[in-house]
Amino acid sequence: MTTFRNFIGGQWVAPSTGAYFENRNPANQDDLIGQFPASGVADVEAAVASAVRGFEKWKRTPAPARGDVLRRVGDLLASRKDELADIMTREMGKPLAETRGDVQEGIDTAYYAATEGRRLFGHTVPSELANKWAMSMRRPIGVCGLITPFNFPLAIPTWKAFPALLCGNSVILKPAEDVPHTATVLVEILLEAGLPPEVIQLVHGMGEVIGKAIVEHPQVPVISFTGSTETGRFVGETCGRMHKRLSLEMGGKNAQIVLDDADLDLALDGVLWGAFGTTGQRCTATSRLVVQAGVHDALVSKLAERAKALRLGDGRVAGTDVGPLVSEAAREKVERYIGIGKEQGATLVCGGERATGGALDKGFFFQPTIFTGVKAGSRLDQEEIFGPVLSVIRVESVEEAFAVNNGVRYGLSSSVYTANVNVAFRALQELDNGITYINAPTIGAEAHMPFGGVKETGNGHREGGWEVYEFYSETKVGYVDYSGALQRAQIDNY
Ligand code: NAD
Repeated sequence: MTTFRNFIGGQWVAPSTGAYFENRNPANQDDLIGQFPASGVADVEAAVASAVRGFEKWKRTPAPARGDVLRRVGDLLASRKDELADIMTREMGKPLAETRGDVQEGIDTAYYAATEGRRLFGHTVPSELANKWAMSMRRPIGVCGLITPFNFPLAIPTWKAFPALLCGNSVILKPAEDVPHTATVLVEILLEAGLPPEVIQLVHGMGEVIGKAIVEHPQVPVISFTGSTETGRFVGETCGRMHKRLSLEMGGKNAQIVLDDADLDLALDGVLWGAFGTTGQRCTATSRLVVQAGVHDALVSKLAERAKALRLGDGRVAGTDVGPLVSEAAREKVERYIGIGKEQGATLVCGGERATGGALDKGFFFQPTIFTGVKAGSRLDQEEIFGPVLSVIRVESVEEAFAVNNGVRYGLSSSVYTANVNVAFRALQELDNGITYINAPTIGAEAHMPFGGVKETGNGHREGGWEVYEFYSETKVGYVDYSGALQRAQIDNY
């Protein structure tokens, strides 16, 4: 069995605890990937001490040179794209086409970061006083603790680590327990690209132990967390108390709205991809289909037919549409919601059971599931399930559809299928989400655009695009008074 290590203090090291956890393929529990460190608080202490040293050197490296490292990271990711996709599918299950996309997002993020090294703009503005210079500039902050979920094992760590590093910070990465192998290869690539060793640390282990220790550590001033709203709440409370800079990206309950004038075939392709891609385990997954009465029955009957035809299996086998859930606990959660849906009066039109038989018996498979007759306000409408379960809600009007979309505590993504340009623009204005798609599914993000949600999905920050560079840098203002006299702002000039 392969035994993996942490990367701390510039070396691959065993955990101080001597304890390990197993990582198995969710499509085939007989397939053991290896054992990974179940690290303890002492490992976090060592990682922070090293990251503090790394920061002192890295912050003095010019930003364009930091960008050059990230450009090489992009090149290495591109050259190892297929290998990384295979590693990722093996440890979390989504089909290879999707894990290749996950790697591509990392490549795009690396190249974007590389170019940002030659921008990192501040502003130079006219001073209100004569012979005085006024400008702003960006400074790195310090050690960034990055805590990531299982569903985008490469892309999400790169969304956080690359801008953090480009801005001159050092990093401690704590990947989700389900996907430690992908994170290990990412750190290998960062080192191969020339990142000075103490600038990055990788600490494997349980969230409640080492995630918590990173969040609580006084020498980690920046925390970026992606995961469930429940865990994010704990992280947020601690960071608030300790005055830390915190980015939270959490749960979603995303709706695809299909109006009477929509192209139904397009809407059908969109909802199948949005609801069952990544086995429904995307923060942007389409978990609600809000359909106007005129097209409801036609869409639902075609949808059930297509959902039943999806091929379940090992994501590394060609022809697989839908892989397994990530764990038995995830599958049990989905099963609980099947019961809840039935109890609350929704109609099960397909799925609703574990997918079994043959090779499926070795993994955490679940049939693509559709409920109709879901009532706004019911638990299927309100709560994140994070599995292949789609709830169909019938509405009469555009106004009702928008109200259903907005009537949840989350606000990540939404989508509207319509041929009416006026309604499309109203949706962009009126839907309470960080992202709204017109005539496209709720899922998918581009590396050069800001990504994130409103309400209980996030706390106002964004990943990706130019906005994330604001998060990982501190704005400093410089004034140079070259008048040779005392000039008092707001006093001598009025
Ligand atoms: P999770 O909350 O269980 O775990 C996320 C990370 O937090 C893991 O690394 C885990 O080890 C760590 N953790 C757990 N307890 C902790 C604690 N007490 N202190 C610090 N860290 C702790 O989430 P998950 O199951 O890995 O991912 C699924 C969730 O992530 C879903 O809710 C999904 O919507 C959300 N998600 C959101 C986005 C987004 O951008 N909004 C993207 C992907 C996933």
